[in-house]
Amino acid sequence: MSDALLVLRSTRVITPEGTRAASVTVRDGRIAEVLPHDAEPPAGARVEDFGDDVLLPGLVDTHVHVNDPGRTEWEGFWTATRAAAAGGITTLVDMPLNSLPPTTTAENLDTKREVARSKAHIDVGFWGGAIPGNVKDLRPLHDAGVFGFKCFLSPSGVDEFPQLDQEQLAAALGEIAGFDGLLIVHAEDPDHLESAPPVSGPKYADFLASRPRASENDAIAGLIALAKRLDARVHVLHLSSSDALPLIAAAKAEGVKLTVETCPHFLTLTAEEIPDGATEFKCCPPIRESANQDALWQGLADGTIDCIVSDHSPSTTDLKTPDFGNAWGGISSLQLGLPAIWTAARGRGHSLEDVVRWMAAAPAALVGLDRKGAIAPGRDADFAVLDPDATFTVDPAALQHRNKITAYAGKTLHGVVRSTWLRGQKINDAGDLTAPTGELLVRD
Ligand SMILES: [Zn+2]
Repeated sequence: MSDALLVLRSTRVITPEGTRAASVTVRDGRIAEVLPHDAEPPAGARVEDFGDDVLLPGLVDTHVHVNDPGRTEWEGFWTATRAAAAGGITTLVDMPLNSLPPTTTAENLDTKREVARSKAHIDVGFWGGAIPGNVKDLRPLHDAGVFGFKCFLSPSGVDEFPQLDQEQLAAALGEIAGFDGLLIVHAEDPDHLESAPPVSGPKYADFLASRPRASENDAIAGLIALAKRLDARVHVLHLSSSDALPLIAAAKAEGVKLTVETCPHFLTLTAEEIPDGATEFKCCPPIRESANQDALWQGLADGTIDCIVSDHSPSTTDLKTPDFGNAWGGISSLQLGLPAIWTAARGRGHSLEDVVRWMAAAPAALVGLDRKGAIAPGRDADFAVLDPDATFTVDPAALQHRNKITAYAGKTLHGVVRSTWLRGQKINDAGDLTAPTGELLVRD
């Protein structure tokens, strides 16, 4: 594309100061100015007028399992980034596990970057992994530009990415705090999980009972205590148990360096509606009851929860057996997060500005990507154009995900992504995707 000035115009542009009619000028892939809607376009500028469709910043999804290389039959950079682009996401950060190799050494990071480079339709960054025995690898990974480190406190689901025990957790977090890095934690306590009734068979209620809220609550309490002791930055992944919200709120009020995410499935799907055998709804921690969901929304509204990210974790269909004991745990939602959340948010009286805060600004801030997550001068010209009132019914066959299995099949959702823009280029035009132009991101 040329360096010519581009002007994107809408009666509803979501900026950090609120929603307004505006003309956004773009030069060299960056937002130059946010001008009044009726501003005279500069001579020679190309003008794209979106009418009343909403112009929002491209979403930032910091929790995606791309599984490439090694388990590309589950997903892969090509399909994941196409699905993301179709869903209004312009930046994703890839999780360190389920690919082979996992991102647990700087060398493995190089391997992943090589694989991602030619396939990325959107900008892609990487998390590193903290596993038993790799404390020495954490600083080299940090220096190589990962956005932080993921660890598990309970089994991860794949043998090559074991969990940390409490001693290993303290060692890893101490090392990471030494360079002011970020540890992101799958917080379920393994002792609770072991003493819960084991699950086998198709009943969702049995699966839910096997992953009790106490497991999350206690793991989070322990993590908060450790973060406080080490003065370290920690982030709770995929919060499901609303019982942990008071602990989190108290820790934040006390100044503990703690952030928290939750996911579209916890905010839009409930245990009560999951049919037996429907393991497309299986994830860990699990989708809980509707009263729990109400409390999570309250946690978002009052700022206890910072952001909403997908935790897109697909597998092949054969691994989604109808037995909750052995089916793969993970929900596919990369392309659907925005409409799923917007549909629920509008029903609860939240605005699209709230959704943009939770799904763009806050995740960008989590990983320190100051160029992303807002429509403001100097930021990357990454956008989604959304018709917030249009509806569609989820047809799994129409998704860009490599495997078409999704917990949202058949749902009617509000919010149709009309186009997606990456650094001033339209990369998705009503589902027509361009050749990949994404860049690999490193921590600022
Ligand atoms: Zn995950």
